[in-house]
Amino acid sequence: MVMTKLNQTQHEIVESWLSRFEGALNDNNPTLIKELFIKNSHWRDLLAISGTVKTVTSINYIANELLSFTAKNRLSSFAIDPDRVQPRYVTRSGRKVLEALFTFDTSQGTASGILRLAVPTKRTNHCKAWTIGTVLQGLKTIKSTNNENLSQKAISSGHGASAFKLPKRQTFNKKYTREEPTVLVVGAGQAGLSTAAQLGKQGIDTIVIEKHNRVGDNWRNRYRSLTLHNQTSVNHLPFLKFPDHWPTYIPKDQLADWFEAYAERMKLNVWTQTNFCNANYDQKLMHWKVDLELPNGKQLNIEPRHIVMATGISGSPNMPDIKGKERFKGTIIHSENYTDGSKWKDLNALVIGTGNSGHDIAQDLYNHGSHVTMVQRSSTLITNIEPSAQLVYSLYHEGPDIEDCDLLAAGTPFEPLKKSHQMLTEQSKQYDKEILKKLEKVGFQLDFGEEETGWQFKYLQTGGGYYFNIGCSDLIANGSIKLINFRKVKNFQEKGLCLSDGHVLPADIVVFATGYKGPDFHVKKCFGTKLADKIGPIWGFDKETQELRNMWTKTEQAGLWFIAGGLSQCRIYSKILALQIKLNELENSRQQQ
Ligand SMILES: Cc1cc2nc3c(=O)[nH]c(=O)nc-3n(C[C@H](O)[C@H](O)[C@H](O)COP(=O)(O)OP(=O)(O)OC[C@H]3O[C@@H](n4cnc5c(N)ncnc54)[C@H](O)[C@@H]3O)c2cc1C
Repeated sequence: MVMTKLNQTQHEIVESWLSRFEGALNDNNPTLIKELFIKNSHWRDLLAISGTVKTVTSINYIANELLSFTAKNRLSSFAIDPDRVQPRYVTRSGRKVLEALFTFDTSQGTASGILRLAVPTKRTNHCKAWTIGTVLQGLKTIKSTNNENLSQKAISSGHGASAFKLPKRQTFNKKYTREEPTVLVVGAGQAGLSTAAQLGKQGIDTIVIEKHNRVGDNWRNRYRSLTLHNQTSVNHLPFLKFPDHWPTYIPKDQLADWFEAYAERMKLNVWTQTNFCNANYDQKLMHWKVDLELPNGKQLNIEPRHIVMATGISGSPNMPDIKGKERFKGTIIHSENYTDGSKWKDLNALVIGTGNSGHDIAQDLYNHGSHVTMVQRSSTLITNIEPSAQLVYSLYHEGPDIEDCDLLAAGTPFEPLKKSHQMLTEQSKQYDKEILKKLEKVGFQLDFGEEETGWQFKYLQTGGGYYFNIGCSDLIANGSIKLINFRKVKNFQEKGLCLSDGHVLPADIVVFATGYKGPDFHVKKCFGTKLADKIGPIWGFDKETQELRNMWTKTEQAGLWFIAGGLSQCRIYSKILALQIKLNELENSRQQQ
């Protein structure tokens, strides 16, 4: 039992806990492990111990689960990480804890840990763990091959450039001649690019395909007024940080150009204008047969061992069916195709949908002199962009560098995370109370997410349903932008939308900012219903596993992986995904020997 003596330093407390933890694991002793945790404790593992992504809650389960893995996976050398932020007292999810980052070795490699010790009260003077996170960092058996370093090595060792195999790049118009790629990444957004960069670090032969003309078009083609809603300091891609003089909120075209430069700088093998059509898995040969459509319209069949779907959680546009659409003489577009409001000055615009895109587009139309009405379909979470929307990133402003913050974030299991988001939502409501009151007064239907967990949980559950107020809510509140409820909409008429009271809302343009069909739709389209049913839903929390469904972890289909999310999520989890594919490949070659 870890007794906290009054004169013990933070280091001593943590060291003592780690040494007892290691001892209990080596002794295979569940009782000793249980003594080290409080009853309602949580363990999140990203590959280090279980080899997968999992969260376990409650002292009994944690002890059993840990020991079920340590029989095969020997853990040793637990120590405070001298290169990271040192143990310190912080408040997490309203609880004062002693937080420490540590290292340890596993059978496969090196790992990091995130320990949060509940601060002992007068009644209980034992320092027990409330949460522990364990994250695989690197593999023992292989040395990561960074292409750039290899190039350097080749040059410095006097080899001519021709003797050294330069990485393949932008070879979209050529057949993949040498051998089949190990991994096909579909989509060159932040998820695809960061995954390809991490796979490159692991020395895994990877192709990224992107249906658009240029890398970055996924952002470039979005509406002109779009700037990122989260700050530059939390949005870096792996290995290459944004310049520190960049704007706090990056405009979408600047981000798009950065993505293009990133692909070039990281020597990623991206085939643009290449469409992923469909794929079938050959169970016997353990590889995919993939049909690609090349820029010249020709089909190409490739046979990667793995496919990483990085096609986003906002795939195909969602267009709700409103009767009489064909009668309407004006313009109807989905937000995906909206650029700016310059054509709509002095004209009537209807924006259907009240998420971020709907609000941003309504504000843009208003700024261009349109008469705008928004149609609200379902309740929406509104939060001012500052400080409220940024509260979820406050960890990143505490002082430790971004690598440590990523680790601290990854080492936060679901339940404490949820609690912390509930608390932040409460705080946001206080900050935003003026605008929220005004919105309620004009009939805007508000919500604060399931169990009041706020905007980020809404994103993780459904991919949307919130707006970071950069002025549109104020325009709605003061009546500059009109608001009606979707319930009142009856049908389209020639000149606009007819409401249930017979009144016609005139419209020259109707923008459907009604979101997108989720990734499940895409999977069904490309892989068929049978496979889609086999793997089940993608994205959104699974209540039992306490993890996002099918994200950056093994799926029910061998060789099929998914990654999506905001920039910081892609930065963190692309590494986890790449390591899993590397482990899978190592295991496969062992079996074949
Ligand atoms: C309007 C809007 C604003 C947003 N603002 C922010 C923000 O401020 N901060 C933030 O962190 N997040 C934001 N997001 C959420 C999220 O970060 C973005 O949606 C982001 O683009 C997701 O990145 P991704 O790589 O997962 O997917 P995507 O960016 O959607 O990339 C998927 C790529 O796959 C390609 N693709 C799809 N199907 C195929 C196929 N069959 N063959 C070949 N290629 C294919 C697409 O062309 C696309 O380039 C925003 C989302 C939207 C819609």
